[in-house]
Amino acid sequence: MQRFDAIVIGGGLVGAAIAHGLAREGLAAVMLDEGDVAFRASRGNFGLVWVQSKGAGAPHYQRWTRRSADEWPALAAELAKKTGIAVGHQRPGGLHLCLGEAEFAERRDRMERMRREAGNFGFEYRMLDYRDVADLLPGLGPAVSGASWTPYDGHANPLKLLRALHQSFVDRGGRYMPNTKVSDAAAAAHDFRIATAAGEIAAPKVVVAAGLGNAALASRFGLDAPVKPERGQILVTERAQTLLPMPTTTIRQTEEGSIMLGDSQEDVGFDTSQKAAVMQVIARRAVLSFPWLRELQIVRAWAALRVMPPDGLPIYDQSERFPGAFTVNCHSGVTLAAAHANLLAPMIAADALDPSLDLFSAKRFDVPVAA
Ligand SMILES: Cc1cc2nc3c(=O)[nH]c(=O)nc-3n(C[C@H](O)[C@H](O)[C@H](O)COP(=O)(O)OP(=O)(O)OC[C@H]3O[C@@H](n4cnc5c(N)ncnc54)[C@H](O)[C@@H]3O)c2cc1C
Repeated sequence: MQRFDAIVIGGGLVGAAIAHGLAREGLAAVMLDEGDVAFRASRGNFGLVWVQSKGAGAPHYQRWTRRSADEWPALAAELAKKTGIAVGHQRPGGLHLCLGEAEFAERRDRMERMRREAGNFGFEYRMLDYRDVADLLPGLGPAVSGASWTPYDGHANPLKLLRALHQSFVDRGGRYMPNTKVSDAAAAAHDFRIATAAGEIAAPKVVVAAGLGNAALASRFGLDAPVKPERGQILVTERAQTLLPMPTTTIRQTEEGSIMLGDSQEDVGFDTSQKAAVMQVIARRAVLSFPWLRELQIVRAWAALRVMPPDGLPIYDQSERFPGAFTVNCHSGVTLAAAHANLLAPMIAADALDPSLDLFSAKRFDVPVAA
């Protein structure tokens, strides 16, 4: 039997961020990953490190997201230094474009609500009119009524991020086991054993971070992870000269020059097929926002499944039945990568989640049975 300090199940952005963080804390960890046959949001996402839309009605989520965005420069610098991989993180602020007055009014109400709910923590935002936005982004379409802006937002290259997290983990002595699907485990407090093709592995700590796989796996460890798939489709244009100095919620220019157009939110189960009608909606909105986009060729498009908790907020728990088992679930694994690596992993290493994360427990879904 091979013994480790921690087993991480899942090698997507969530598992890899935690594994990287645990290895940095000095733990001998192993990361088990099902591989290419699994659904992998980490390879199909939009790459935003996005704060401004997160946490209306849930200020603890806004705070956690902001903390992650604040940790991002340190994570990017550390990964570049340790692995030589620049993950392309930029934080120029971000815009949410509104088409028409109704969208603008709705957005203003939402942003003001978030400012109120932030209390002393603060929430810096501005509602910009057409002229303000046109000064920031060239070639703005007349259909744009304005935008919300915050300084907190940014973006990165999510594939380089995933690669860098894996490399950093392995460089620190972590063991990566690809093509290893976990379907069963023997669980006891601080004693977890998993059979793999390479023999049994054991550790006093396990982190269930298998994306959509968590829904079936969590109960084996006395945990609950009621995540469901939500499909998102993305279009990518050919490369262009640098035109967009900051990302918007659904249009961003990559470091290499491509313009990414996203991304739908579809409740279609595990169907990863692309739909022309949805792609048309994405393209139409993009061209209304920037008519010059019409001139660019679409060179790639894909659909991928988000890992969606019922209320859209992350789920973090340590098992009460089997202490030492943790679960981590979220639908913003790029944005929260820095919080997972720099804040959550040290808590898991120390065997105790900070009480500030209590509101992220899956207990919030427990409904009292009427007497
Ligand atoms: C269209 C789209 C756009 C998005 N845009 C953004 C964005 O702009 N910003 C942002 O922050 N987030 C975005 N996301 C979300 C982000 O991609 C996810 O939150 C993140 O990738 C989730 O990572 P994960 O590791 O939990 O899941 P996954 O990436 O799905 O990885 C799960 C891993 O677990 C493995 N696995 C599954 N089951 C098992 C098992 N039983 N045993 C072993 N291994 C297993 C799989 O092989 C897989 O590698 C987007 C997602 C989509 C789909």
